[in-house]
Amino acid sequence: MYYNDKTIVFLDGKWISAKDAQTGVYNQTMHYGNGVFEGIRAYQNTGGLNIFKAKEHFERLTHSAKKMHIQLPYSVEELTHIAYTLLDKNDLADAYIRPLVYNGANMSLMPTDKSHLFMAAWKWEKYLGDNPLNVMISSYQRPNPKSCHVEAKVVGHYTNSILATTEAKQLGYDEALLLDMHGNVAEGPGANFFYEKDGILYTPPAGNILPGITRATIFELAKELEITVVEEHFTADDVYKADTAFFVGTASEVAPIASLNGEQFKGDWEGSAGHNIYLMYRQKVRYNQYQGLTIV
Ligand code: PMP
Repeated sequence: MYYNDKTIVFLDGKWISAKDAQTGVYNQTMHYGNGVFEGIRAYQNTGGLNIFKAKEHFERLTHSAKKMHIQLPYSVEELTHIAYTLLDKNDLADAYIRPLVYNGANMSLMPTDKSHLFMAAWKWEKYLGDNPLNVMISSYQRPNPKSCHVEAKVVGHYTNSILATTEAKQLGYDEALLLDMHGNVAEGPGANFFYEKDGILYTPPAGNILPGITRATIFELAKELEITVVEEHFTADDVYKADTAFFVGTASEVAPIASLNGEQFKGDWEGSAGHNIYLMYRQKVRYNQYQGLTIV
């Protein structure tokens, strides 16, 4: 699904066949989860191929690496160039791009001076699909921001996401919604959360979440559409009273939520502010707005 015999990937400065890409079993990322990554989408649109907010994604990758003491000897421009070349070499247009920075052999709990950059791309449908989701409040909390850098996209953080997603699926739900350590709503396993009440959108503030690039895009679109977005802490009880709710993220784009713990949202998604924003989002990514950096 992610690669075939023809797929080319980038690994440490070389373009190689995906089937020949190898990594060491003593690397620190494999044992302790200290690696950083990104999830980026490219869209074929009227003006050509565009990596959506490439700069923001590679800036976040750089920030994540710095926070985790991981060497990343590439500039944002170089990373962007690699991403465009990757799409070109694989003849991909609408695609998902996955850069991963992982550490070399090191069984200690100290930073390593050797890191590796891997970048691959593949075709990926909307991660959560198109149908409104039945969501459950997870029994797992998001990691405490005093125990890690929650705003960084760190490999090890995703064990929490895997536990929450697996629990939700095992219980017959489509997706999980996780609370923070204070019992307030935080986010999904791989997406930010919004709810709508009386035409106003609410979303948790930065602090206990990964403040997503799609979330920031929603703020921009809401402003253009004159829809108010309130960033504040709220509980699951507030969400039950919402008209509609949705997840946003690079892989999921905008994904409407049908119910929370079996309670259906009463509002009409198609007539909601969230849906208007979604339509505008689709339009903008398709029609050449939000340029990534041009090919360098
Ligand atoms: N929260 C988490 C935990 C995520 O993994 C993601 C996906 N990167 C998001 C939110 C959404 O972030 P973005 O819009 O930047 O993809």
